[in-house]
Amino acid sequence: MPSVDRFARPLRSLRLSVTDRCNLRCQYCMPETDYVWLPRESLLTFEEAARIVDAFTPLGVDRVRLTGGEPLLRRDLPVLIASLADRPVIQDLALTTNGVLLARQARDLHDAGLHRITISLDTLDPARFQRLTRSDELPAVLAGIDAAAEAGFRSLKLDTVIMRGVNDDELVPLLEFARRVGAEVRFIEYMDVGGATQWTMKAVVSRKEMLAHIAAYYGSVTPIDEISSAPADRFRLPDGTPFGIISSTTEPFCASCDRSRLTADGVWLLCLYATTGTDLRRPLRAGASSEDLRQLITAVWSMRADRGAEERLGMDRETTLVPIRTLRKNAHLEMHTRGG
Ligand code: SAM
Ligand code: SF4
Ligand code: SF4
Repeated sequence: MPSVDRFARPLRSLRLSVTDRCNLRCQYCMPETDYVWLPRESLLTFEEAARIVDAFTPLGVDRVRLTGGEPLLRRDLPVLIASLADRPVIQDLALTTNGVLLARQARDLHDAGLHRITISLDTLDPARFQRLTRSDELPAVLAGIDAAAEAGFRSLKLDTVIMRGVNDDELVPLLEFARRVGAEVRFIEYMDVGGATQWTMKAVVSRKEMLAHIAAYYGSVTPIDEISSAPADRFRLPDGTPFGIISSTTEPFCASCDRSRLTADGVWLLCLYATTGTDLRRPLRAGASSEDLRQLITAVWSMRADRGAEERLGMDRETTLVPIRTLRKNAHLEMHTRGG
């Protein structure tokens, strides 16, 4: 029986973070060199992660996305993927990666049973990539995209966070690049994730602006009419090329949000902006049965009233949501811990 929350939103999509570590330092996510990391012994083993997933699936979860930090840093990830792919109830098994380690892992991920892959790519310019991520790995990311295109996933997406004055002149080049490699690009509005990212509303390029810019170059852009709880609204260029826009900041989609997140150490968060979560690792390690976990999950989800991005709309738009000193004390508040 699917679980629903206080706004009748079903429990369907689970983002499963497998690590809080990352090999990039994206300006908009993790700009500092060092962070308070989750203790290693607190990370869920693959067996524990699969047991928690098994508690979610009877309640309606049929989509699982592996994320991080950078999920490809987690050793033997294909083992977890194979185990999840063995569960037919999971109809959609996807992964979000920065692509740096993808060239040598794409084939194994595909063969382990991963259905879909999303690669984050914010620029095609090496100098800009270095400024944005503090790394010279753009060629590795591009090689990873090629390898993923060859591996034959059901779908290949590119996610681009657009920031004013940083990469807002790359909408068209990224659309052209995505078409060339057989991927669908999704432009994401820059979100306030707090702390050192120095987010301000001025740096946000709205969905409206992006559409105007794209239409000015290509001509008319047609919305794709589809019923979906996916965060992206999809459009077509005049030649039929599809792309998406995720307007998380200016036009949030909390009303249809069926997503929740599990951190790598087993804390279940009901919203990207949630400040507290439910520790599922502790009961699991204390011997809770699957039925116990299911009851806990049902009880928590039935009380869910989160609509973080909508609430953020009504707040002061000039200062970041969570001050850096608060983030330093609580690793679970960081975007790279909660999986984006
Ligand atoms: N490391 C992987 C990656 O970058 O694809 C997976 C984790 S990352 C936290 C997941 C997604 O969150 C990425 O696509 C990233 O672009 C997005 N993200 C991170 N910070 C963001 C922000 N401030 N605004 C919008 N999207 C953000
Ligand atoms: Fe960038 Fe993803 Fe790493 Fe965040 S977790 S710094 S978005 S690569
Ligand atoms: Fe869902 Fe929270 Fe994001 Fe709104 S802000 S779409 S409720 S995760």
